[in-house]
Amino acid sequence: MKSRIIAIANQKGGVGKTTTVVNLAAGLAQLGRRVLIVDLDPQGNATMGSGIAKHDLEVSVYHVLIGDATALEARQTAREGGYDVLPANRDVGGAELELVHELAREQRLKTALGLVAQEYDFILVDCPPSLNLLTLNGLVAADSVLIPMVCEYYALEGLSDLVGTLRKVRAAINPKIEILGLLRTMFDVRSNLSQQVAAQLAQHFRDKVFETVIPRNVRLAEAPSHGLPGLVYDPTSRGAQAYQALAAELLARIEQPSVSHTH
Ligand code: ADP
Ligand code: MG
Repeated sequence: MKSRIIAIANQKGGVGKTTTVVNLAAGLAQLGRRVLIVDLDPQGNATMGSGIAKHDLEVSVYHVLIGDATALEARQTAREGGYDVLPANRDVGGAELELVHELAREQRLKTALGLVAQEYDFILVDCPPSLNLLTLNGLVAADSVLIPMVCEYYALEGLSDLVGTLRKVRAAINPKIEILGLLRTMFDVRSNLSQQVAAQLAQHFRDKVFETVIPRNVRLAEAPSHGLPGLVYDPTSRGAQAYQALAAELLARIEQPSVSHTH
């Protein structure tokens, strides 16, 4: 099977992109899938959260983007969790400037992944919190986008910018990209507002919303400081169980796409 490349994107920070990438990678790996994370965020949170020291990187996704190294040379194995990582640190921010005058600067990641794609069933791209050239590289490489959204009042703010960017990417360069799904994150059962927003998102976006809802769960927040996915750090926590359910739902979605599936 050809590998599926999924960009996890939302230009808002703190919505659960990185938490989703790391835990989905571990969840898919538990289900026997071969997974690579591409960390495109200069903060390197997915790198650290996978137990890889970002300050010690000799080769990172930065070198891959500017053409100084291959994905094979940059790739590392997560300390636990059973997946691989193309790691990042603050250097990656520099790639943006350095690529400005280069040809096909939005296609760097897509080209680079060609070398390793056949080794993976899923490649999950952790995008930075902005619609910049790095995110664009993620969207150009991807087959689909997963959009995490916090169940709070401003959830929809900025979504139209992301959808507009997707439309441009589709028109100009990557016609096949689609929205795989919106993921409701940091859901608080005790909050009426959280319940209302979760329900509204489901009503409005229907089958584009994952049924699985990710609860607000302190174990998910603690895990990165141990360099582990929440799913490995505390597999019985509600957060870990939700991400396990998400991995299963995603496989069902991708491996048996429904007839009503629309763009
Ligand atoms: P993003 O990558 O979109 O900026 P993160 O995944 O880094 O978002 O999440 C932002 C913060 O919230 C992090 O400190 C993370 O540990 C925490 N967090 C993410 N998801 C949850 C959750 N479901 N429950 C509790 N804390 C969470
Ligand atoms: Mg992040």
